[in-house]
Amino acid sequence: MDLKGLTVKKFNKGLVAGNFSACEAVEEFFNSIEEKDKKIDAYLSLNKDFALNQAEDTDRKIAKKEKINLMAGIPMAVKDNILIEGLPATSASKILENYRASYDATVIKKLKNAGAVFLGKTNMDEFAMGSSTENSGFKITKNPHDLTRVPGGSSGGSAAAVAADLAVVALGSDTGGSIRQPAAFCGVVGLKPTYGAVSRYGAMAMASSLDQIGSFGKTVEDAAILFKEISGHDDLDSTSAAASYGEELINPDFENIKKLKIGIPEEYFAPTFQSESRPDGVGIDGLDNEVGKNIEAVINDFKKSGFEIKKISLPHTKYALSCYYIIMPAEASTNLSRYDGIRYGIRSEEKTLLDMYKKSRSKGFGEEVKRRIILGTFVLSAGYYDAYYAKAQKVRSLILIKNDFDEAFKQVDVILTPVSPTLPFKIGEKISDPLSMYLSDIFTIPVNLAGVPAVSIPVKNPTTALPVGFQLIGRHFKEADILGLGQYYEQSII
Ligand code: GLN
Repeated sequence: MDLKGLTVKKFNKGLVAGNFSACEAVEEFFNSIEEKDKKIDAYLSLNKDFALNQAEDTDRKIAKKEKINLMAGIPMAVKDNILIEGLPATSASKILENYRASYDATVIKKLKNAGAVFLGKTNMDEFAMGSSTENSGFKITKNPHDLTRVPGGSSGGSAAAVAADLAVVALGSDTGGSIRQPAAFCGVVGLKPTYGAVSRYGAMAMASSLDQIGSFGKTVEDAAILFKEISGHDDLDSTSAAASYGEELINPDFENIKKLKIGIPEEYFAPTFQSESRPDGVGIDGLDNEVGKNIEAVINDFKKSGFEIKKISLPHTKYALSCYYIIMPAEASTNLSRYDGIRYGIRSEEKTLLDMYKKSRSKGFGEEVKRRIILGTFVLSAGYYDAYYAKAQKVRSLILIKNDFDEAFKQVDVILTPVSPTLPFKIGEKISDPLSMYLSDIFTIPVNLAGVPAVSIPVKNPTTALPVGFQLIGRHFKEADILGLGQYYEQSII
């Protein structure tokens, strides 16, 4: 069985044709994990018996000639902040080291019903805070394309698992870029759905007004298949929407796709990609020439294929990062207050209750998580609430969402941008400089603030040895537009 290039549809075909059984596939993947994951460290925990049990169900159905779901038997990976009943769920934090989930997340329930097989839980930045997976409390995942470099983050384990053929598809979460940036760094596809399109019930909350669960695949089609399976309204998540998606996610009508107008935010693509060439205060610093050149090649490919390309403006992107680093820590500091040594996770036995709280949290949380709890508590404190949190919320809703994206989507259907301003960086390169790490998400964060969907797609034949990703951003609930355009790029542009 060749795991390389194995997509959902290829797997399904082979399974139905009897070329292999679902249980054999599990064995194959575990062999591959055994061989390769010592070096990559994509997985935090593995669950072979559990996976074999799930696979047996599908094999039984096939033996009885029952119709199976496209996701049946598919060996997949799950980020460790998503709950699977009975299995470890640590969010890569020491504070949850021995915690096991007591129920299934809604996405897991749906995938279990579809027959998908969970091989294991993947490494991540602790509580999804980071862009390199170096903030994991347990280990650092390496980029399968170059083991000295980071896979991106925070869903670095899921992206690396798919890239290294240690899973066919994977689940991740994206609060500011955590699916799209690691997808770009590892050369796979990553989708952050519209806010509300996928239930977050059973996902450990980081910043609840921004968090979304989404999909990784080797192809846009695979990311679309997984997304279709997990999307839909859920009574258990009050933010989940009633949107429903049809077959066009997976089988787009390219005649319609060819009519989509593509917008290029001019501030993101100054002519030489150098800061001197940009008008004062408008452009975005730090876009690597190498990344810029590759994104430009993608734009030219679309042009050559006859797409209408239009310059647009997202002038307030420069405020997005500041806005995000107030709202996100504020919400995270509140969400993380539940890890107190009493309800979950490790407890430091101290003489007084206050000491017990303090020591449990000091020992259990890593540096980055503590930094954000302190930041968040500060911006929410009585004297500073209006100056920081309330102001950031206004900037978010009045300027970033209402003006920038609404105006842009009056003129175009899809927006094309880079995913990350840099290529995958070296392990250790940015870890002691939080600001440069935060800047990794400059192109992805505005999307979360606006709640719109976006997908990261690998540039074909990049000029670099390392993968580069481009981002397609769509209107609310128009995943079909970005996934359709992505599939067009994959299949029709050489
Ligand atoms: N890298 C960003 C951060 O550190 C985004 C994280 C995420 O999307 N979970 O907050």
